[in-house]
Amino acid sequence: MTDFQLATSVSHWLAKFESALAQHEAAALRGLFHADSHWRDVLALTWRIRTTSGREALVAALQGASAHGFRIDPDRTAPRAVTRAGEECIEAIFRFETAEGAGAGVLRIKDDRAWTLLTALEELKGREEHTGGRRPKGWSYSRDFGGPNWLDLRKRKREFENAEPAVLVVGGGQAGLSIAARLGQRQIDTLVVDRWPRAGDNWRQRYHALTLHNQVHVNHLPYLPFPPSFPVYIPKDKLAGWFEAYVESLELNYWTGTEFEGGSYDPVAKQWQVKVKRNGSTRELRPRHIVMATGVSGIANVPDLPALRGFAGKVIHSSQYVDGEDWKGKRAIVIGTGNSGHDIAQDLYCAGARVTLVQRSPTLIINCDPSAQLVYSLYSEGPPLEDCDLITASIPYSLARKTHILATRHAKDLDKELLDALERKGFRLSSGEDGTGWQFLYLTRGGGYYFNVGCSDLIVEGKIGLAQIAELPRLLPGADLVVLATGWKGQEALVAKLFGDEVAARVGPIWGFGEDQELRNMFTRTAQPGLWFIAGSFAQSRIYSRYLALQIQACEAGLLA
Ligand SMILES: Cc1cc2nc3c(=O)[nH]c(=O)nc-3n(C[C@H](O)[C@H](O)[C@H](O)COP(=O)(O)OP(=O)(O)OC[C@H]3O[C@@H](n4cnc5c(N)ncnc54)[C@H](O)[C@@H]3O)c2cc1C
Repeated sequence: MTDFQLATSVSHWLAKFESALAQHEAAALRGLFHADSHWRDVLALTWRIRTTSGREALVAALQGASAHGFRIDPDRTAPRAVTRAGEECIEAIFRFETAEGAGAGVLRIKDDRAWTLLTALEELKGREEHTGGRRPKGWSYSRDFGGPNWLDLRKRKREFENAEPAVLVVGGGQAGLSIAARLGQRQIDTLVVDRWPRAGDNWRQRYHALTLHNQVHVNHLPYLPFPPSFPVYIPKDKLAGWFEAYVESLELNYWTGTEFEGGSYDPVAKQWQVKVKRNGSTRELRPRHIVMATGVSGIANVPDLPALRGFAGKVIHSSQYVDGEDWKGKRAIVIGTGNSGHDIAQDLYCAGARVTLVQRSPTLIINCDPSAQLVYSLYSEGPPLEDCDLITASIPYSLARKTHILATRHAKDLDKELLDALERKGFRLSSGEDGTGWQFLYLTRGGGYYFNVGCSDLIVEGKIGLAQIAELPRLLPGADLVVLATGWKGQEALVAKLFGDEVAARVGPIWGFGEDQELRNMFTRTAQPGLWFIAGSFAQSRIYSRYLALQIQACEAGLLA
């Protein structure tokens, strides 16, 4: 098909869709979709993030939806023939409008019928981001020579001395920075608090040799992409420095050294009453919204292992591990074969310790480069970052599963030599649930895999020992250190600790997929008014911070309860 034919076919579909939608014609809508089609709405038509699958369900859900102005977006990637989840289709980015906002969408058609449809809210009318052509003029900082200048105003704003933030973001990792930046551009007073002494410490304080696992072009924060000179795999201290620069450049109000201690919600005043401890002194805040950006992992999971009772050496959780310096020449046991377990085992080995890695359950192993990068291949196809992000958001759950099954198979072929050698050493391998690979392990469990950056090779070479958990009692005599790389409790436990059991029960499970084929309670309204969650990779934080900010803005504007 020529570019013209691709565009014509998409335009025809969009015109028929608009007409069927306007006239609430179920039969006409039905004729536009394949039986196994999927519609993902991200706020635009339902104010929810929701995936509907199957033609009949989809037609029923679309009846009553109201939108117009559907057309190919001339400013974005033109319709293309692509292969998604192993199937050929036409993929097109389009734009449209609703009563409240401007939308962007992605349509995939096969034989003139829709296979997948995304409708996503981009902006609220009259409340657009203050970026690009809408950037602030800056005159107000210089017109009044005797008045406060930019720095005076920044300092005042940051301190919230006689003011309350509308939004309190707990946690200043990439999730916290992304949502704070998005809210800032929407003129919503936002304060980020983080217990670490410096922005970026969430990376800076991790193990010495850490570099990011994904390539630089997938990891940009909103508005401010990494300079083109940055390495493909960014080292942790460089990233930490970038976080500090980001806070400064995006004018984020960020309190370091500040512990969020929890609080309660007043449903009448529609605001929270919370306590934060900043450098030793307590401050009460009354934000209307709290965004928890405390990471997928909440509280350390420390299992009660009978074998460890009476062990004379030191036992720590992986979160307490700093580096291997003190353990040179000593014997260390690391329990748990996820990313943390492998990374700590490798760090201890490099510091001169004799290390045994102890496996509790089958684990997915994948070489960091190139195998683990396969799932991000879209970002190397050519479209700009914004288009890649929209296309990523447009992949419904079932297609994502198929895509990841294919990528996992491909990765296993690429890594065959390593995986066979590990199995010969007794390592129990996993491919994730139904072979869906590492990303679904992350999205459902928050772990269960290792991106090999050398530790698997050390195991194969016999430089790091490998044992199964049943062998632990035999290993303990003579050991000096046990590191429990045993993961984290779900965020539900953290919510209960900070807001009480009632709020935790109201909100329910967080992360992992729910019946609506979406991550539970993530980036969306929860059953607890004013309580929101954001977490995940750089890409997830970048993509979904936009939608989370739009929802909070809509609440502030009275468009959303
Ligand atoms: C070796 C390695 C490489 C990785 N590479 C990549 C990669 O390339 N791309 C990618 O997308 N992901 C990568 N990840 C995974 C993931 O992005 C990170 O784990 C990331 O840190 C998650 O960010 P976050 O903002 O959700 O949470 P975190 O970074 O965990 O930040 C949460 C913050 O909340 C603060 N906090 C928590 N509770 C409180 C409280 N009560 N009061 C105040 N502050 C609080 C913490 O101090 C912390 O700073 C990698 C992880 C590792 C270990």
